[in-house]
Amino acid sequence: MRSYFIRTFGCQMNKHDSERMAGLLEGAGFAPAKSIESADVIVFNTCCVRETADERLYGQVCSLKALKTGGRPDVIIAVGGCVGQRDGASVLKHAPHVDVVFGTHNIHELPSLLEAAERGRPAVSIVGAGESFSSDLPYVREHAWHAWVSIMVGCDNHCAYCVVPSVRGPERSRTVEEIVAEVSHLVADGVVEVTLLGQNVNSYGRDRYGEPRFAALLEAVAATGIRRIRFATSHPKDLSDETIAAMAALPALMPFLHLPVQHGSNRVLAAMNRRYTRETYFQRIAALRAAIPDIALSTDIIVGFPGETEEDFLETLDLVGRVAFDHAFTFIYSPREGTPAASLTETVPREVAQDRFDRLAALVHSLSLASNEREVGAVCECLIEGASRRDAAVLSARTPQNRLVHLPLPDGTSPDSLAGTFRQVRISAAHPWFLSGEFAE
Ligand code: SF4
Repeated sequence: MRSYFIRTFGCQMNKHDSERMAGLLEGAGFAPAKSIESADVIVFNTCCVRETADERLYGQVCSLKALKTGGRPDVIIAVGGCVGQRDGASVLKHAPHVDVVFGTHNIHELPSLLEAAERGRPAVSIVGAGESFSSDLPYVREHAWHAWVSIMVGCDNHCAYCVVPSVRGPERSRTVEEIVAEVSHLVADGVVEVTLLGQNVNSYGRDRYGEPRFAALLEAVAATGIRRIRFATSHPKDLSDETIAAMAALPALMPFLHLPVQHGSNRVLAAMNRRYTRETYFQRIAALRAAIPDIALSTDIIVGFPGETEEDFLETLDLVGRVAFDHAFTFIYSPREGTPAASLTETVPREVAQDRFDRLAALVHSLSLASNEREVGAVCECLIEGASRRDAAVLSARTPQNRLVHLPLPDGTSPDSLAGTFRQVRISAAHPWFLSGEFAE
């Protein structure tokens, strides 16, 4: 049987798209390969949101040239996802040994493109948004107990630095009925946690129903009996009181929210076209904490956006300290071709941006550690995810607030037998990025 290997870059949407690619490939008779070197088909599911992911992709694709010239000429290399959508046939100029290029809107064509490539020619197919919707494709879940569920694709927001609207297209929502039917099927199949996915889930339904229906969707999904519901990603300007009320009222909704703020200065937020102010962001945080006192909050922050002054940056530090995020993902701005911000000339020197990044990272580190230290001694229900990536004798689990907990594997058990189960865990120690715990039962 021919085998496949998929390497995924980027966000949760891409991870879910990779599960769909795996579903299509297994439907076409392929089996998962043990390693990239042994696969007959290698698929790169790409991301162009950050420069580093873009560079890593081309580095890894080019390194496979030796595989094809050194005894495996029949191996097929495919590049899909955001870079495929953006670059199309020009991927072949960077990497002529690539056999297949496809985009974000035509994942379903992957098997036929591989067939075309096997007939001995590069196969390139990129279609525009709206020509297909991949949600109904078969997929192979990474975990039996968890599923990503796509509720919408695309984004209408046009943040100045972001390529997503150009590679994923405008917002298109699935119906409530389709989503509920999928989650019901997953519950019957043993899934205990779903993550609802969209670039801007808070505006779910606006394109289809004329107004956002995210709160109603959460209620409908919770009624399926699923134990845990998470979602990503939220936009602060669209986070409604109704959604906050639904999060507070529905026990399946986990007390955790990733709410990207991106910057603390109103001047920079306006230049980024984020369409909210720091004051409205503070107001949303206050509403969340009033409704859900135990909620944990994470965010994304960019430093070094063109025109950012030291005063602007100090406003970011101030906002981060005042919100006291439990976790934050921090980035140095890099221009992405074709975005409005790419033409801004008032760039921040690299060493200045790096210095600001380091100061922000130190603050985020101390806030994360303080947040985790507050958990020591608590007992909470954790969902066991399986063996830790680094140590097979250690279990990984998640608290309701999405904190990662490491636990010793009980004697005589295997990580797989515990994955997907809920256990009471006592938190015994805090570290900056995870907690240590022990079974409380
Ligand atoms: S909300 Fe902004 S940052 Fe997020 S996907 Fe849409 S355009 Fe990009």
